[in-house]
Amino acid sequence: MVGGGNAGISLAAKLRRDGCRDVAIVEPKQVHEYRPLLSYVASGMATLDDLRKPQASVMPRGVRWYAGSVVGIEPERSLVRLADGEDLTYSDLVVCPGSQVDWDAIPGAQQAMTTPQASTSYLPELAPGTWTMLSSLVAGTAVFAISDRHVPCAPVGLKPLFTAADHWRRTGALDAITIELLVSGEHLVDLPRADRELRSVAESYGVHVRTRTSIESVDAFTRSLRLRTPDGFDDLRYDALYLAPPHRAPDWLATSGLTSPTSDGFLAVDPRTLQLVAHPTVWGLGDAAAVDALPSGGALRKQVPVVAHNIAARRTGATMRRYDGYSVAPVTTSRRELLLAEFDRDGRPEPTTSTPDLVRPRRSLLLFDRYLEPQVYWHRLLKGKVS
Ligand SMILES: Cc1cc2nc3c(=O)[nH]c(=O)nc-3n(C[C@H](O)[C@H](O)[C@H](O)COP(=O)(O)OP(=O)(O)OC[C@H]3O[C@@H](n4cnc5c(N)ncnc54)[C@H](O)[C@@H]3O)c2cc1C
Repeated sequence: MVGGGNAGISLAAKLRRDGCRDVAIVEPKQVHEYRPLLSYVASGMATLDDLRKPQASVMPRGVRWYAGSVVGIEPERSLVRLADGEDLTYSDLVVCPGSQVDWDAIPGAQQAMTTPQASTSYLPELAPGTWTMLSSLVAGTAVFAISDRHVPCAPVGLKPLFTAADHWRRTGALDAITIELLVSGEHLVDLPRADRELRSVAESYGVHVRTRTSIESVDAFTRSLRLRTPDGFDDLRYDALYLAPPHRAPDWLATSGLTSPTSDGFLAVDPRTLQLVAHPTVWGLGDAAAVDALPSGGALRKQVPVVAHNIAARRTGATMRRYDGYSVAPVTTSRRELLLAEFDRDGRPEPTTSTPDLVRPRRSLLLFDRYLEPQVYWHRLLKGKVS
């Protein structure tokens, strides 16, 4: 496994459970993070301590851990190169190094992030400041922008928006704050019923929703944004700016021969079997793989068993399992309630359960997402208990 995040740890644990003897993970970080809680940190409802554990404590028993970084892969030689000069060979390789914020895509955005008036939940070092920024705003314009460029679980960018709007309503500041929501795509979420529900929540807070609108550049000095809209260009000033920023694949993937002209730098896998099209012993998993579906931790619940099965199936000639593009977007609609959108790559509903209706905002769903889901993550998903 290249990468010991959600994908790498879950799959390594699953392979060990299934009886695979020789499993190794390359992962440079000493601390493992449960990233979905970052949205709650940015909403003032969790701390960074709530989402961190030592990496050593989540390494599955019997798995060899190389605490370094991969700098290149040579699939023709079945070789992985580490930054410290060591080479590893493999019979099957699973590449799951995630994605990274692409600040180059929005000139000025990274500089803006150094000011108290701009922030994101997508980087742990900035997530706590997001709530400081939002909760201290008492008047002015708050802009929330959600990119459609490979953002992990992009609709969760609405969590800080709705929890802040609820806070402003409670403190009486809402009438003095203009809230602008800029969404690069056509929808707030790719499930029509949930999209309608979220739009009506937005309306209830007086949020101005602009779809097919993205930020071209940020001028942190004048606190203004250059926007690309369906009608051309526009300018917008802000007093608080929240970004769910564009992401890109790790740069070294492009030189590893594991991408294709259409995969935008991400791993060119068969989106159903998750096997590399050009290299059958290489597999792509998680945020780094071009699977034509919303990247999310929820998606990994379905992807991990598929790859675990298919690695064995390739060797025995058994039929491969297929990933249908399932993904999930949990969105808080206030500081008390949350709705859960689950759908496949064609936007068809794929709810885990039909009763209760998960697309209706509920208190119980927020409690599940904030408190129970992290326990499921540490004690089930990272232990490979998925089927
Ligand atoms: C703010 C935020 C909120 C989210 N909310 C939700 C949510 O509510 N629900 C949900 O389902 N999903 C959510 N997600 C998405 C979810 O966290 C990701 O989809 C998931 O973490 C992807 O797992 P991954 O293993 O592919 O990538 P990651 O978790 O990013 O792990 C990649 C790992 O690879 C390592 N790595 C990177 N480069 C190298 C290298 N060169 N060599 C070796 N190792 C390397 C990294 O250190 C990292 O540990 C959220 C994500 C964010 C950022």
